[in-house]
Amino acid sequence: MSSYREHYFPNTEPLRADEMRITALGTGRPFLRPAQANAGWLIELGNGDRFMFDFGFGTQSNFGALEIPYQAMTAYFATHLHTDHVGEFAQIWIGSWLGGRSVPLEVYGPSSNQPQFGFAHFIQKQRESYAWDTETRRGTANMLGADVNVHEFDYSKVHVIYEKNGVKITSFPAVHIYDGPVSLKLEWNGLCFVYSGDTTPSHFMIENGKGADVLVHETFNTVKQLIERSGYPERMARAVGTVAHSDPAEAGKVLAECNPRLAVAFHFFNDFDTAPEIEAAIRTHYKGPLALAKDMMVFNVTKEQIVTRMAVTSSHVWPNKELHGDFRKAPVGKPMQMSRWLADKQVFPKF
Ligand SMILES: [Zn+2]
Ligand SMILES: [Zn+2]
Repeated sequence: MSSYREHYFPNTEPLRADEMRITALGTGRPFLRPAQANAGWLIELGNGDRFMFDFGFGTQSNFGALEIPYQAMTAYFATHLHTDHVGEFAQIWIGSWLGGRSVPLEVYGPSSNQPQFGFAHFIQKQRESYAWDTETRRGTANMLGADVNVHEFDYSKVHVIYEKNGVKITSFPAVHIYDGPVSLKLEWNGLCFVYSGDTTPSHFMIENGKGADVLVHETFNTVKQLIERSGYPERMARAVGTVAHSDPAEAGKVLAECNPRLAVAFHFFNDFDTAPEIEAAIRTHYKGPLALAKDMMVFNVTKEQIVTRMAVTSSHVWPNKELHGDFRKAPVGKPMQMSRWLADKQVFPKF
């Protein structure tokens, strides 16, 4: 068995060839606070592949702190189109491009029952709305990283949506407010990671999450906490906490049915005075290994053991330049020309 330092320091621990490392990039609620970004999970594999499941607001700052080259990301997957899961699309697109990615962005996300609620529509409109952004970067940055390959998949089926390099990713429906949301299962080298996205307790999860090595399941703060701490009226607290999401006791029921090697609960404000009540509620049904997720919690997974730690990172990070070779070589486009009357006002004329 490998031994690990007490904390995870980026760039100091190469993954073993048979190892999976999962990092919580965001574990909080749909509004931000410094301690917890919106939803996002990074999965790194011993074969060199790296995937991100969801990219809500705040998650990309945490990703940057891990000092992973942007070019080293294999693909990004969205579970559904709530902003707390896809809000940082512009960061994974434009941010990673200017940070060193010189291949097209690969993004996967679910359809819905109407095209305007689907992932392809979302990406197309995001790209259109940022036309000024991408076009004004011509002439400065290579344009290879501006490209996006969008892979929209059917939300309504249990099916394999990605299979490459020994990695299989399966999507299955999540039961969350309306048609479209999915949960994701990643299988590689005999290891299995399951991520609920947002869902109320469902038979899809019980069927597809059974026996996962790590199962990340959503739960919200308790109805009492939503009333007392968030100031929600009771009706709204119940709607959010138990109809749109799984309350902690309900999540515990699903976790007990799935019986993972490690269960991880996320999507709630995790504080010293909220966590005990949430854990107690989960424990009404689930007695197995459990972590209440915090941002930058790191899970090293092998056949022998699962190690849970916190990452220690720097705030003043620069992009990792390891894979910037192509970024430097790639040709830049032709710049747009501003109006002459604007250009003529330059104190130091450049054009
Ligand atoms: Zn949602
Ligand atoms: Zn959510």
